[in-house]
Amino acid sequence: MKQSNLLLPTLKENPTDAEIKSHQLLVRAGYMRQIASGLYSFLPLGNRVLRKVEQIVREEMDEAGATEILMPALQPSELWKESGRWQTYGLELMRIDDRHSREFALGATHEEVITSIIRDEVKSYKKLPLTVYQIQSKFRDEKRPRFGLLRGREFLMKDAYSFHDSFDSLDKTYETIFNAYRNIFTRCGLDFRAVIADSGAMGGKDTHEFMVLSDVGEDVIAYSDTSDYAANIEMAPVITKYEPSNEEAKELQKVETPNQKTMEDVAHYLGHSLDKGLKALMFKVDEQLVLVITRGDHEVNDVKLKNLYDASIVDLASEEETKQAMNAGFGSLGPIGVPENVDIIADYAVQSVVNVSCGANEDGYHYINVNPERDFMVKEYADLRFIQEGDPSPDGKGMIKFARGIEVGHVFKLGKFYSEKMDASYLDQNGKANPFIMGCYGIGVSRTLAAIVEQYHDDHGITWPVQVAPYQVHLLALNMKKDEQKELAEEIYETLKKAGIEVLFDDRKERAGVKFADSDLVGIPLRITVGKRADEGFAELKYRQSGDQQDIYKSDIIDTVR
Ligand code: ATP
Ligand code: MG
Ligand code: MG
Ligand code: MG
Repeated sequence: MKQSNLLLPTLKENPTDAEIKSHQLLVRAGYMRQIASGLYSFLPLGNRVLRKVEQIVREEMDEAGATEILMPALQPSELWKESGRWQTYGLELMRIDDRHSREFALGATHEEVITSIIRDEVKSYKKLPLTVYQIQSKFRDEKRPRFGLLRGREFLMKDAYSFHDSFDSLDKTYETIFNAYRNIFTRCGLDFRAVIADSGAMGGKDTHEFMVLSDVGEDVIAYSDTSDYAANIEMAPVITKYEPSNEEAKELQKVETPNQKTMEDVAHYLGHSLDKGLKALMFKVDEQLVLVITRGDHEVNDVKLKNLYDASIVDLASEEETKQAMNAGFGSLGPIGVPENVDIIADYAVQSVVNVSCGANEDGYHYINVNPERDFMVKEYADLRFIQEGDPSPDGKGMIKFARGIEVGHVFKLGKFYSEKMDASYLDQNGKANPFIMGCYGIGVSRTLAAIVEQYHDDHGITWPVQVAPYQVHLLALNMKKDEQKELAEEIYETLKKAGIEVLFDDRKERAGVKFADSDLVGIPLRITVGKRADEGFAELKYRQSGDQQDIYKSDIIDTVR
């Protein structure tokens, strides 16, 4: 490809809205452009990388015995009503009406559609197990689209679904796909960990996430330094200290809490506790605001394990909400309103959050010298515990360390959830109808691309691993006005193309400095520069990652590049 013909708009400055490297670099290096919040166009180079990641995914999925299909992104609401998710999926599901006022969703995921297809087309156990996948755009109206491709509102996902007549069969496929995922992320050059995704309700072995280790990851992983143990601490929501301004506090007083307690009650706690030297703090736990009453003598700015032993979380949720929160793995935190613009001051990994009922505003109870058993009804006090670095890992084989991770893949044993709700069954050997047992397996293809950039960049730009690079070779002719340079570069270009090597040829009439800077930014693994020694038939090779360079004679290039 000749660069003079390519849409490759590089920028000198980072886009102002880009907070993290992958977002900055993919825009600056001309791989993509934003069209609206969370929506991106892939320009030619971005598209090439996306196709490469996709191809790796495709090859490994095929190898795992899955076959590719393509389902519509537009899905009728009826299917989502059958599964119940039309109600439960919430605001993330993008919904639209057609001209006849029929309701549709833009696919956030495809369990409903695939279940309806298999329900109609697979009748017998003889067809099982069966695994299909697709690579397709998904739509999710994320509350906070951010970090470029890491959290988009339209993004490319590989989603796979498997159907079985026994849990053993599901286990086998799960393991096969699990291994395929290992291969995929290894081939992408990523430093990743497969982690237990929900060690609570799911018992830990029915769902795993693949996490790319990165400081910009939104998940916290607790892993063992010397064994395979690793888990997502989703029980450890991001906790944010939040102190309402006086005005906000007044506003909050008008807000009704879900269990009918008004914020006046909350203010009462607040005022009461502050008067008596206790601290009432508001934390944001995931999307929920939580009131925490602590003893005043603790600096809660760096609440850690021990401090929180002394803190109590006032449970303002109704029992039903508490139950839901518990099921979702949060512990029992009551929502009391969600103000925007909350600053994150610290993240913690919490194993579980204490579940207490507040009694301190009743006569005879008080916050001074607060006594958990007397002043609060404590239901699960001992569970209030942070996992800390250095703790023994649950498998007993190592010590816990923390890392941040980007969730690039997720494998999940669904069981009969969809097949029962949607009445999808097969006939077994005895002619008896049974609901399918299912698994689902996702990979964020566009997110993976960004995760690669998070792990492969330096001060000058992207440093792609060769397997996913847009081109293998970046050929630069430093001065296209010099005949000997132009001719040698063109000769090398033709030779490389003939040998089936993907080469981008910078044939632009730009200054050498511009070409070098752009080349570093774009990050193709190997650069071949034709410059001063062109008349002798020599060019310069430079490896983008290591910076190693050497002069090379034209006829030696092919062997070296291969
Ligand atoms: P997250 O926890 O980051 O919101 P998720 O658990 O909601 O992700 P899944 O439903 O498991 O996502 O979807 C499968 C994969 O799709 C994820 O592992 C992730 O790689 C990718 N993905 C999910 N949401 C997004 C998004 N908004 N932008 C880009 N990729 C996404
Ligand atoms: Mg999500
Ligand atoms: Mg997740
Ligand atoms: Mg997930």
